[in-house]
Amino acid sequence: MLYDTIIIGGGPAGLSAAIHLAWHDRKVLVIDRRTGPLFFTLEKLYNVPGMPGVRGTELQKRLRNQAEEMGAEIVKDNVTAASGNEGDFVVTSTDDQEYQSKTILLATGVARYHPTVDGDHKPCFAYAGKGNMYYCPDCEAPEITGKDTLVIGAGPANWAAGMAIGLSRYASKLRVLLTGDTDLSETRAGQLQEKGIAVHAGKIMELVGKKGVLSAVQLENGTHLQAEAFFVSSQAIGRTDLAQKLGVEMAATGNHAQPKSQRGDTNVPGVWIAGDLRPMSQQVAVAMGTGNVAALMIDQHLRKQEVLP
Ligand SMILES: Cc1cc2nc3c(=O)[nH]c(=O)nc-3n(C[C@H](O)[C@H](O)[C@H](O)COP(=O)(O)OP(=O)(O)OC[C@H]3O[C@@H](n4cnc5c(N)ncnc54)[C@H](O)[C@@H]3O)c2cc1C
Repeated sequence: MLYDTIIIGGGPAGLSAAIHLAWHDRKVLVIDRRTGPLFFTLEKLYNVPGMPGVRGTELQKRLRNQAEEMGAEIVKDNVTAASGNEGDFVVTSTDDQEYQSKTILLATGVARYHPTVDGDHKPCFAYAGKGNMYYCPDCEAPEITGKDTLVIGAGPANWAAGMAIGLSRYASKLRVLLTGDTDLSETRAGQLQEKGIAVHAGKIMELVGKKGVLSAVQLENGTHLQAEAFFVSSQAIGRTDLAQKLGVEMAATGNHAQPKSQRGDTNVPGVWIAGDLRPMSQQVAVAMGTGNVAALMIDQHLRKQEVLP
């Protein structure tokens, strides 16, 4: 089967694109390995237009049902390679299954880093997106309004400091815990001091809490830091491996590459990008909107080819 479009990634961006393309009777395949944050987010989301207080898991289900009802095919698989040219792309998955398409939409999202607990990041899965452990100030900062909050720095110390300073208009009290890098600039250290934000440093040995709600972190040096809310400061890097394999132009930013395209069309004919993978803010509504824009461009592009002599 030659699909009109293969969409790699079935988060809000990929599924919104699938809905539009399937509505226009395009043969669409969404390949998704289901590791997107919303598959695990039991917290309510308050900034998704038209869906106040929807949980991440529910949002994923609604988008998936709508895409399937419209005629999109969705498979659970992990894409390891993508090659070829417009009209003749080949997408390969883990078990060497091959799929073919005229166009490709990459909506692979970002890889988010968790703090480690006794050297392992997995203990965070019990709390991330479940109760009071937050990652994205743009999405979730209002959740900590009036709360005693601990910012957990799992990346550069200055990022954690910047996050804490930005969160000071919401939280009643803030502290910063630096779990790795402790090299604060003079400016950031001064700003923290001015705002009365205490800084702790040390490795986390245990997360204390139950049913998704974290109550404290226990450090290697014996310190027990209790709080009502926890905000993680870490990197969220676009999953650009497939985009790079296909030749999508990258812009170097800090220690990683990200696609140059803001709009979603790329330098590679037949390849588009959408959602968090794009160099923009990470938000559900933005992901859905950019998925829709990419799908519009793809459908219009295919239509132009059909009407050309
Ligand atoms: C804890 C948390 C809370 C959040 N809360 C909010 C909120 O309240 N409001 C808000 O607006 N936003 C929120 N966000 C941000 C929001 O979840 C993202 O902006 C949104 O999910 C991005 O959608 P996307 O489709 O671009 O990518 P994703 O949702 O990340 O989906 C990408 C999909 O692609 C798949 N994939 C990647 N590579 C491959 C591959 N090689 N093969 C197959 N599949 C692949 C992944 O498994 C994943 O399922 C939150 C994020 C987190 C982490």
